[in-house]
Amino acid sequence: MAEAAHRGGALIGKTVAMGAAASSTPRVLIIGGGFGGVFAARRLAKAPVQVTILDRNTSNLFQPLLYQCATGILSEGQITLPLRSLVRRYRNCTVLQGEAVALNAETKVVSARRPDGSTYELAYDYLIVAAGMRQSYFGNDRFAEFAPGMKTLDDALEIRRRIYGAFEMAESLPTPAERKDWLTFAVVGAGPTGVELAGQIRELALKTIAKEFTHIDPTEARVLLFDGVDAPLQVFGEALSARAVRDLEGLGVELHMGVLVVDVDARGLTAKSRSDGRHERFAARTVLWTAGVEAVPFVKVVAEALGVSQDRAGRIAVEEDLTVPGHPDVWVLGDIMALNGLPGVAEVALQGGLHAGGQIRRLVEGRAKPEERFRYRDLGSAAYISRFKAVVHVGRFKLSGFLAWLIWGFVHLAFLASHRHRASTVTSWMFNLARGHRTERAYPEALEGRRSSVPESP
Ligand SMILES: Cc1cc2nc3c(=O)[nH]c(=O)nc-3n(C[C@H](O)[C@H](O)[C@H](O)COP(=O)(O)OP(=O)(O)OC[C@H]3O[C@@H](n4cnc5c(N)ncnc54)[C@H](O)[C@@H]3O)c2cc1C
Repeated sequence: MAEAAHRGGALIGKTVAMGAAASSTPRVLIIGGGFGGVFAARRLAKAPVQVTILDRNTSNLFQPLLYQCATGILSEGQITLPLRSLVRRYRNCTVLQGEAVALNAETKVVSARRPDGSTYELAYDYLIVAAGMRQSYFGNDRFAEFAPGMKTLDDALEIRRRIYGAFEMAESLPTPAERKDWLTFAVVGAGPTGVELAGQIRELALKTIAKEFTHIDPTEARVLLFDGVDAPLQVFGEALSARAVRDLEGLGVELHMGVLVVDVDARGLTAKSRSDGRHERFAARTVLWTAGVEAVPFVKVVAEALGVSQDRAGRIAVEEDLTVPGHPDVWVLGDIMALNGLPGVAEVALQGGLHAGGQIRRLVEGRAKPEERFRYRDLGSAAYISRFKAVVHVGRFKLSGFLAWLIWGFVHLAFLASHRHRASTVTSWMFNLARGHRTERAYPEALEGRRSSVPESP
């Protein structure tokens, strides 16, 4: 506690409040230890401020490789870094675990809930909100029970459990007819995450576990990919999207484009054609959802407390300097900010964090230009399709195939949290590429609070 008071100083409590109040050092509270929050803290590391990162989790998560954790290539430790370890060299920064649940913009206090349900309060002079998005089921939240999303480490482990667990179920069922639905995997959403996941399921069936079973042939596993748009990876443009179609079909992924998934249950899903309105039922014991995102609930709390509105996905529109209109002491950044149509990608969050941190530093050092504009440098985007196949879009350049796959690999390695992460990830990738190995196939029997579709009898 004394350490928290010394380094962060924002915690309000019997012991610490005096220390915090007595200190004249400005307090910066960062909500969310994702890309945006961590890069803001990094930019503030040498500033004369006390920084507190508040996160409901204890680790920074590298979401772009979540699907590799879900499909057994990478471990949880390879795609996460404890926030405490990450900021240990920032002498003015402390980390607190808790979920932000309330904001009083007048008294400048945020309330946070500990994992045991109790609450505590944090005071700030400057507030950075970088709380990210969660999966959206477009108003059909009941689908979540049957079709996990892909946003958190829990999601990845749940997906791993469902994928490998489905093969195990099929292996012990007596007839091919009974096995068929367990060997059918439906992925909803044909953006980068859905494409990556669909490709990986086919790959692991064709390579990793192809010869491990006695009663089933894993290579017969069907992977169905659904989306309301006309083609996968549409954001990458027509040419790369067409390439993705070829590569996915070559891998054996069955594309169901131009359909809306209107119902999901434990035994499959129903899709509605956008052209003729026809409904079609698909039996699949594993349904995975990557179709949409919406702001986490705390963003609504922030919008209400600050008197601003949210867009359809729950984002808050910010000024050109990333502050909230009328609140020059509050920055909203990363996936939850709406500014000039910028996409919800890591680079936007990371650069936004650096910008907000830099702006606060200049403010407290008395050298800020008023309302300094955020200038985003677009470094492009990439999506993995399958072994040696990816698509990359950088400015006017569009690449696909092996070269794109190499670029994809280098970019992802560059963004990993440490040399240790890079070295171990390269090793795992090499084993996977050479022999199809996936060493991270263990999963908890059932994650707390989730309905299990695996142990159920058919
Ligand atoms: C599966 C997947 C693949 C992706 N692939 C790519 C890719 O290839 N390239 C790319 O550029 N981008 C990719 N992205 C997007 C990228 O990961 C995000 O744009 C980026 O993580 C956004 O950063 P952020 O800081 O805004 O939010 P996040 O990184 O989501 O961090 C938000 C943090 O806030 C915390 N939090 C949430 N609510 C609260 C609360 N109430 N109180 C306290 N803490 C809270 C969360 O625990 C989390 O740590 C991918 C995303 C996903 C899900």
